[in-house]
Amino acid sequence: MHKSFAAALAAAVLLLAAPESASAQTDAIDLLIKNARIVDGTGAPAYQGDIAVRGDTILRIAPRIDGPATKVVDAGGKVIAPGFIDIHVHARDNIFKVPTADNYVRQGVTTLIEGPDGSSPLPIGAFLDRVAKAAIVPNFAIFVGQGSVRDSVMGAVDRRATPEELEQMRKIVRQGMLDGAFGLSTGLFYVPGAFTPTDEVVELAKVAGQMHGIHISHMRDEATHVLDSVRETIEIGEKGGLPTQITHHKIIGALNWGKSVDTLRMVDEARARGVDVTIDQYPYTASSTSIQAALLPAWASEGGRARMLARLKDDAARSRIRTETIRLIKEERGGGDPNNVQISACEWDPSLAGKRLSEVTIARRLEPTVENAADTALWMVEQGECLAIFHAINEQDLQRILKHPGTMIASDGSIPIYGQASPHPRSYGTFARVLGRYVRELKVITLEDAVRKMSGSPAKRLGLADRGLLKEGLKADLVVFDPDTVRDLATFEKPHQYAEGVSLVVINGEVVFENERMTAARPGRVLYGPGHER
Ligand SMILES: [Zn+2]
Repeated sequence: MHKSFAAALAAAVLLLAAPESASAQTDAIDLLIKNARIVDGTGAPAYQGDIAVRGDTILRIAPRIDGPATKVVDAGGKVIAPGFIDIHVHARDNIFKVPTADNYVRQGVTTLIEGPDGSSPLPIGAFLDRVAKAAIVPNFAIFVGQGSVRDSVMGAVDRRATPEELEQMRKIVRQGMLDGAFGLSTGLFYVPGAFTPTDEVVELAKVAGQMHGIHISHMRDEATHVLDSVRETIEIGEKGGLPTQITHHKIIGALNWGKSVDTLRMVDEARARGVDVTIDQYPYTASSTSIQAALLPAWASEGGRARMLARLKDDAARSRIRTETIRLIKEERGGGDPNNVQISACEWDPSLAGKRLSEVTIARRLEPTVENAADTALWMVEQGECLAIFHAINEQDLQRILKHPGTMIASDGSIPIYGQASPHPRSYGTFARVLGRYVRELKVITLEDAVRKMSGSPAKRLGLADRGLLKEGLKADLVVFDPDTVRDLATFEKPHQYAEGVSLVVINGEVVFENERMTAARPGRVLYGPGHER
């Protein structure tokens, strides 16, 4: 009796209180952005309007919204778009050193996706817990990397997995998905991905697919055998029963330029028969990876560093490696000329950052021929790890891939320590470069299409239903930029330069960048994938 009376009283109090508090809540606007040109991320034409944000959510979008609001920003006719989602990022170490990720946020990137190229930290759950505690600015998500999984079970060996090893790998992928990964990444170009037969990848892809994840691949070969690699990437999607993505699609080496006509046709044909294939790309004609991965054959690295060094000491093995290195400089990543290889960072000699392989060769008192450059490359690998930039991509292929409707924008970049080493400019410039150079200057794609490729398209790919579009009820990840001035400033010679033209960035409803300054807000969240079990 007493209990039900109390319940009735509580209900009455609620009834009395309800009308006022509900209306006060409906009207409360935390952030109101007025006079914006709304590019909503779907690819639809831009239109004029205002956007109201409450908490972490887009409350209203309308031609005109009047306050009151805690904060009002006049966009002055500039573009407002959904925050950009970068589906290929290397940030697992530096997100803790530079949790603001300024290089990305200043371009309008609000979500970073780690774990690409078959490489991820393991276990996924422990890593994401660390990120969740780190107070970061952008949102953060991850793939589980096939190479890391294989390495943890078998090491860097060139052989097939036993049934027991395969079952162990399946378990790790399943756990990665339960921990919140968005799918399986492969890097079949790298060791140990390079030693993995396609059917083994398919078995792991099936696990990710059953849990609604996707497959994203740094392909086995982006040069001479690029067509075979596209075929394999499609096959993994088709047999694995999951969406599949060619990441940082490019055609490497002058002998192969033009092959994007065929790769895109293969993608279209696969899509026509129902395979869900997509692409991502960065807007530069140079790639970046380690000297060892780019200029030595994969077999040279089988079994780990000690075994590689032993091979380089063996005359016969060294000569076979050297022959292959010469070919790779002439025909593939080396771009035909040691001058097209630019060192970005060497752990054993920081002074080499920014130098060309030709210059390093000359400094060793050798003529900068391809043969001598190959010797220099082997010598460098013996000293330790070196990252480099490889100028070996052609502008026509880049533009052709960019125009494809299935292509999204991703940087393949990292979070640099400002001023340190000589990284690829893509980390500072990818998104601004597409908007400045490829939309405004060269008119390769429209503004609406570019924004779709940076927001709506990757969100849909990842199954992020609450981000990637400007729509009432979705999370308020927003970027305001001037389409007439937005541009990248980072160059291969001077990479440490932030992009220009972005005036406001909002993440989960909080302003993180305004008036050319990062604010103190740290609203970034870990985003969990479709198989996540709480
Ligand atoms: Zn890659």
